[in-house]
Amino acid sequence: MNNQKTFRFPWIALLIIVIIYGSLIFSSRNNTNRLSAQGLEQMLQSPEKIEEVVINSSRDNNTGSVTIHSRNGSVYSSTLTDIDRTAAKLEEAGIDYTVQLDSGYRLNDFIPYIVMLVMFMVILRVMTGGRGQGQMMNFGKSRAKLAVRTDLNMENVAGMVEEKEELREIVEFLKNPKTFIEMGARIPKGIILVGAPGTGKTLLAKAVAGEANVPFFSISGSDFVEMYVGVGAARVRDMFDEAKRNSPCIIFIDEIDAVARRRGTGLGGSHDEREQTLNQMLVEMDGFAQNQGIIVMAATNRVDILDPAIMRPGRFDRKIVVSKPDVAARESILKLHSKNKHLAADVDLKRVAQTTAGYTGADLENLMNEAAIKAVMDKKSVINQSDINDAFIKTGIGTEKKSKVISERDKKITAYHETGHAILFHLLEDVGPVHMISIIPTGEGAAGYTMPLPDKDNSFITRTQLKHMMMAAMGGRIAEELICEDITTGASQDIKQVTKIARAMVMQYGMSDKIGMINCDENGDDVFLGYDIAHNKTYSDELLSLIDSEIRALVEECYTAAKSMIMSHRNVLEKSCELLLEKEKITGEEFAALF
Ligand code: ADP
Ligand code: ZN
Repeated sequence: MNNQKTFRFPWIALLIIVIIYGSLIFSSRNNTNRLSAQGLEQMLQSPEKIEEVVINSSRDNNTGSVTIHSRNGSVYSSTLTDIDRTAAKLEEAGIDYTVQLDSGYRLNDFIPYIVMLVMFMVILRVMTGGRGQGQMMNFGKSRAKLAVRTDLNMENVAGMVEEKEELREIVEFLKNPKTFIEMGARIPKGIILVGAPGTGKTLLAKAVAGEANVPFFSISGSDFVEMYVGVGAARVRDMFDEAKRNSPCIIFIDEIDAVARRRGTGLGGSHDEREQTLNQMLVEMDGFAQNQGIIVMAATNRVDILDPAIMRPGRFDRKIVVSKPDVAARESILKLHSKNKHLAADVDLKRVAQTTAGYTGADLENLMNEAAIKAVMDKKSVINQSDINDAFIKTGIGTEKKSKVISERDKKITAYHETGHAILFHLLEDVGPVHMISIIPTGEGAAGYTMPLPDKDNSFITRTQLKHMMMAAMGGRIAEELICEDITTGASQDIKQVTKIARAMVMQYGMSDKIGMINCDENGDDVFLGYDIAHNKTYSDELLSLIDSEIRALVEECYTAAKSMIMSHRNVLEKSCELLLEKEKITGEEFAALF
């Protein structure tokens, strides 16, 4: 924001110039002595003192002025009401004179002003880095981009069925506020969109504006933070004023948490400014009427840190959670972002959707874009499934490093290890099936990977599912044990995961029969408890050892089950390992065919 500082300089420069010129003009006027008619008469009595006389005659009558330069350097002037008479007197006294036809104003009078104007403009150019004066005039104005008309509409938002449904009444209201007012219906002033970055919150707000065909003002909370004291509040005021003039309209505040963090928790000097800005925002929101036609939409991914004051009725009293897309939504987002791309017949977007759990809309858009770039780089006219797979690995797991040289021994161990996981993913209902197995190291340090293909996005995970997850994670180590003479360090991540799941089952989820529904998680997330309470174990030593033995028993049980499953598919283990060493990467179908 240092441009604000530089914007002040032209004003200062202008002031200085005005003062200098003003005094110059003033002093030059001072050099000319005004003469009254009598003074002029007297002057003409002593022609020896006069050097030059100029009569300025106006064009169409006998009036004008006379300028007399005396020999001692002084200049005198006087208005003339009868030029002919003065001319006669001059001739009488034997004084030479010249007559100038006066146009009323002389160029000389304007030169100071012209020079001043030119200088001012030059300085302005330099100071604003050539961006002209348009911006300077906006000093102190809100940085909300002036009302943008957007041609996005709800069709540009894939998935989000519930979110769109919730916003439909807002669109209707913006389209036709009168109907709602006549009916006495109350429409929320503020809507807060909560969701991870890239889930399409901005897109959704824009689509509402586009669908209702109203102006869209947008500003980001982080813009306010970098401002000088008082400027943030002024901008909020300006933005709301501008919006009121343009209603019905939408104001979109991105990253509202930057401004609307719980008050009194700020660190350092910036927090006063933030509070002022927030207060101004609350004042503005309270200030306009419910049905004035302005809808304020705000986005954040941290609703927990927001000041509760902004959620009060009449402010942001509606909250819409924008979640990461599920399988079906992912597929429609992929379809939407493939519309302008040429896909080959082998592309299966449904499959891509299934393998991209956890991806946001922005991630998916990026995925398709990477695939398109890959296709172009390979000089192809269409995007193949293989391009999407490569993009998937690039965006998801890190670019495959084919160039890295790995020893044969490492490759073999990795192949067995990954196949161990894969067999269990294949056999266990709740975690499979296998999408891809690879022994190509990834950019993020894994020697290989086995990618499962979960069919459904369930919010609740069952006990069986958790056990299956543990078993699948153990598969790698088990395969190493069965085939190699020794075990390796390659399973550390798997072991970590197994332990994490087992602990959570016993200590958090109440899934151990002997312990039951007791939360014994000492690193609990209950931040409201003080240090002492949180760290004072509220359970006995017996319970502690019981927890240990229960975790052990759970791990033991899964291990035994997993080992016997792999042992009974030893032939698959061998064949898959061979295939992997040959191709480095095999698909789920190729793997399933081995059974
Ligand atoms: P946020 O504001 O939540 O961080 P954006 O609205 O900026 O996310 O989303 C970034 C981009 O991701 C959008 O421009 C769009 O291309 C894509 N995107 C996200 N969600 C969707 C969706 N549901 N449908 C289509 N595209 C989406
Ligand atoms: Zn592993």
